[in-house]
Amino acid sequence: MTSEEFDQLRIKLPQWVEESRRHGTEGKVASYIPELSKAPIEALGIHILDGQGRSISAGDCSLSFTMQSISKVFTLILALLDNGEEAVFSKVGMEPTGDNFNSMLKLELVQPGIPFNPLINAGAIAISSLIAGEHSLDKSARVLHFFRMLAGNDTLDYDYDVYRSESETANLNRSMAYLLKDNGVLEGEVEEVLDVYFRHCSINVTCADLASMALVLSSDGVNPRTGKQLIPRRYVQIAKTFMTTCGMYNASGEFAIQVGLPAKSGVSGGILTMVPGKYGIGLVGPSLNRKGNSIAGVDLLQTMSQHFDWSLF
Ligand code: GLN
Repeated sequence: MTSEEFDQLRIKLPQWVEESRRHGTEGKVASYIPELSKAPIEALGIHILDGQGRSISAGDCSLSFTMQSISKVFTLILALLDNGEEAVFSKVGMEPTGDNFNSMLKLELVQPGIPFNPLINAGAIAISSLIAGEHSLDKSARVLHFFRMLAGNDTLDYDYDVYRSESETANLNRSMAYLLKDNGVLEGEVEEVLDVYFRHCSINVTCADLASMALVLSSDGVNPRTGKQLIPRRYVQIAKTFMTTCGMYNASGEFAIQVGLPAKSGVSGGILTMVPGKYGIGLVGPSLNRKGNSIAGVDLLQTMSQHFDWSLF
């Protein structure tokens, strides 16, 4: 990687953040999980980390927020580690849906009624049921431990207010989970599975945590600082492919054209992305577009990717 590019990034980023931040007013902060509506609509922060440990941050990068759907990438990896590919892909498919992230339409329409992919809500709930452990708290503790290891941050923890807020209002996810149970997709007790899911969605992070987690994926599963293989390369490849085809929900095609990087967004406004082999990137901008992606965040990524020609395609 050229350090010239990194130096240019350092110079240009603060201005780009301010330009993209203006788009925030065009969207809305998520409110279907009531606690999320407290997020600052005009915030935009980013952290970029390279393999030598150099970092750049700009904007509201000290803001902490819950991972929401970004967590689905890493529970998928943990489920693959626990069960192997064959077992995981007997419960979830490998295809984008074109539907909203919380849609349950195809679970009824398309046989055998398994979720189309692990990054929509139905798929991630199915994945939660595959995490190894005696009971839900045990499974959740393993998830949290895994996330802490990947972020290199032992203090990662739940935002209990968001966890409770989601758990109390998740009628749609709950009905989806019961349908999955009926379709023979979910192992174990439905409420226990949902508890694992709500907990991993409510893990609190900063942009720097997301950048560290992304850097491991961008380095094919190796922690560049220690040289240790944390995730098998094959599972990283699977995760990055899903991020490219389904990571931005039903805007993944547009994102692939405009930005061209593997990415995963969450309704808190977070986005985890990477320039493979170069950088891990975490950003947050809580104002969302209609598809549930950070408006200012996508705008900023588009500016950076087009300026530095980062698209993989
Ligand atoms: N916890 C959220 C939900 O289940 C995650 C969705 C998201 O970030 N798109 O609705």
